[in-house]
Amino acid sequence: MLYNSTQNKNEVVSAAQAIAQGISKDGGLFVPQEFPKYTQDDFKALLKLDYRGRAKKVFADFLTDFTADEIDDCVDSAYTAEKFGSENPAPMAHAELSGRELNILELWHGPTCAFKDMALQILPHFLTKSLKKTYDGKDAVILVATSGDTGKAALEGFKDVDHTNIIVFYPVDGVSPMQKHQMNTQEGKNVRVCAIKGNFDDAQTGVKKIFTTPEIAEKLEENNMLFSSANSINWGRLLPQIVYYISAYCDLVNEGRIAFGDKINVVVPTGNFGNILASYYASLMGLPVNKFICASNSNNVLTDFINTGVYDKNRHFYTTISPSMDILVSSNLERLLYKLSGDSDKTTREWMDALKSGGRYEVSEDVKALIADKFFGGCCDDEQTKATIKRLFDEDNYLCDTHTAVAVNVYEQYVEQTGDETPAVIASTASPYKFSKAVLEAVAPGCELPETEFDMVDKLNEISKAAVPAPLAGLKNKTARFFDVTEAASMPQYVLGALNIE
Ligand SMILES: *Cc1c(COP(=O)(O)O)cnc(C)c1O
Repeated sequence: MLYNSTQNKNEVVSAAQAIAQGISKDGGLFVPQEFPKYTQDDFKALLKLDYRGRAKKVFADFLTDFTADEIDDCVDSAYTAEKFGSENPAPMAHAELSGRELNILELWHGPTCAFKDMALQILPHFLTKSLKKTYDGKDAVILVATSGDTGKAALEGFKDVDHTNIIVFYPVDGVSPMQKHQMNTQEGKNVRVCAIKGNFDDAQTGVKKIFTTPEIAEKLEENNMLFSSANSINWGRLLPQIVYYISAYCDLVNEGRIAFGDKINVVVPTGNFGNILASYYASLMGLPVNKFICASNSNNVLTDFINTGVYDKNRHFYTTISPSMDILVSSNLERLLYKLSGDSDKTTREWMDALKSGGRYEVSEDVKALIADKFFGGCCDDEQTKATIKRLFDEDNYLCDTHTAVAVNVYEQYVEQTGDETPAVIASTASPYKFSKAVLEAVAPGCELPETEFDMVDKLNEISKAAVPAPLAGLKNKTARFFDVTEAASMPQYVLGALNIE
């Protein structure tokens, strides 16, 4: 299978190249030229496999330049019971809300307790194998600018992976105390963490500058290293997300909750549009999905887009209690537009150029109709999010995090507006204990909030009796390893120093 750029169809690369390169030279994103189509028999075979078996089948069909042994190695290294708490890294919980059955796909049982682990645990393995095929003998240097979650998930994914080094920069006052502690206590021989005197944009601009400074690239070259990227537009982060929708469907059939061949709806709390796009890609492979329900918080640029066909990022930015969805430019939407415009690189490029220059574009009537047919967009604010957490906890004793609650809220809006009772899979993207303060305020309004994040975890545990994930519980007793703070302007020297190649 080959991949091309969403903005230039003449740019054609292998899977290994797409993963090693991250983004196309023309600025477009890599997409498969076609999608494998699964027959009824293919799906029946998948029913009998466990999560890892299903993942191997899907990866083999997309990563055709990988050997079966290489894929086995990636999957067996990433999705272990040790890292995900059980043999199924993406188990399904069931809860009832106002008499309605919710199938909650818990994607947060990995080492950092958020769904990004599903991709970032396997990406380093895809990447090292891809580099071997494309730039043999070189070590990858991963630079990440983070506002919290991605940095920790990337550190956990890359720690002690041979032939990789990872350096994470975060804004010194721009992450939560828990996130800071998660990163500063990171273990591993090949990891570095550094705070930047500045905000997230300063960190991100600094990283981009390092990536594009020729002298730094030369220094790396002399030392047999090269830069690579772990950000969410890398094909190696999207592909692993397709698997859990297919696997969830198989689990629902095996549990007798749906009949083989029945349609499902998919509900996803959305930021960068990667997670929901993966479910759409699964449907292109034959997964019977009726509607894709895209849930947003007050940053509802996607809700408006789905309802009007106009994408306009010129609007107020809200800081919400579901911070991983506080996004005004959803990068992976570009891949959907490419598909819906009939694989038109020209049209996609026009819209993306308009977004860059004026922050706005309007899609064609054809694309609007395709979106209206398959997608539903909805949003809710922080108060509604908290009210949903409380109802779900009070009615069925199920504790969910703020992002998942946005999805549940929008799902209820969807059913009320449409009457569509198709069984739904709701993607749950984080452990409630990652956002203890907001969840505590939701389930016990007016309660006195403890001072530290760890005490909030304990208090929430006391009230809810829901188990605290081991990686978060264990964090309390870890001592910090990283104390570096630097000016944004000194990031290049910091990187060279950390790599010992000054
Ligand atoms: C990243 C993230 C999201 C958004 O996912 P996208 O793929 O960017 O749409 C939602 N919830 C949580 C907890 C996240 O970390």
